[in-house]
Amino acid sequence: MNAIELSNVSKRYEQKTVVKNVQLKVRTGERMVMIGHNGAGKTTLMKLMLGLTRPSEGQVQVLGVDPAVSTSSKRQTLGYVPESVAFHGAMKGREVLAFYAGLKKVPAAHYNDILARVGLKDAADRRVSTYSKGMRQRLGLAQAMLGDPQLLFLDEPTSGLDPSLRRQFYELIDSLSRSGTTSLISSHSLNEVEARADRIAILKNGVLLACGTMPELLEQTGLPIYVQLKTAAAAVNSVAEKMGWAGEVHKLDERNLEIRCRVSGKMELVRRIAALGDSVEDMNIVPPRLDEIYNHYMENVQPQ
Ligand code: ADP
Repeated sequence: MNAIELSNVSKRYEQKTVVKNVQLKVRTGERMVMIGHNGAGKTTLMKLMLGLTRPSEGQVQVLGVDPAVSTSSKRQTLGYVPESVAFHGAMKGREVLAFYAGLKKVPAAHYNDILARVGLKDAADRRVSTYSKGMRQRLGLAQAMLGDPQLLFLDEPTSGLDPSLRRQFYELIDSLSRSGTTSLISSHSLNEVEARADRIAILKNGVLLACGTMPELLEQTGLPIYVQLKTAAAAVNSVAEKMGWAGEVHKLDERNLEIRCRVSGKMELVRRIAALGDSVEDMNIVPPRLDEIYNHYMENVQPQ
């Protein structure tokens, strides 16, 4: 079953169309990441899925219902971490969660457990004003996790976090995903999310340009991969010659060369490299990163 289904969804604000004819399905338990420039429409799409705003055209279905007319018990199955998490600084972490738990009718034992899961157990009785940015983000996630939501919406959840806090944050999302929670994350940090996403949706000016796994997007773009070889002494020229069929070969120095080849030619290339025996001492395959894939779509694919 799909957790989210958008069919021909458009959203206009006065004369401006900010989401254009978007079709998107997110499967249950999937980690979907939306990427796009500022103003691409990521937050608007999230608001449409949360039922905070209605589409001008098309249909939005979340967990089988229209979120804009959904009942409060259905809404409790959604969690949302907005881009800037702001809580009252004078309140303690535990009090903030108790407040939201009251709104969601979640028992106290449950939110104590969540505080521990997000690593705020020891800081639970400190005022939020003393929290670091990372702690506030985690309190935001704790708030969204109340009531065991089936669907989590995270808008730029790691902006302003240092690399180790980012990793902790994604590990938490991964563990939620393993227990069946669907997550929809918008992000600017492309290379950070590529390993964290099951599928990636690329938005430009309100249009969904592409949506797929990293290998699917890579195949669609036709971008080359790079195969780097370290050769035995004095073998670099003969190896370079034998690999010429695969694509452009660049000799980097007396032992190393790089072949630029099509994804579709990768396995044949690997077989032929293996057949060279001791002439090749080491090999490294470097696929394009998400930022290159993203740039390809931004520069080469025009929204219809
Ligand atoms: P993103 O999250 O990708 O940065 P948004 O969804 O926030 O993009 O915004 C998409 C476009 O919609 C922007 O041009 C923004 O100015 C416009 N927009 C968003 N909300 C409103 C609103 N309430 N009224 C008018 N325009 C809006």
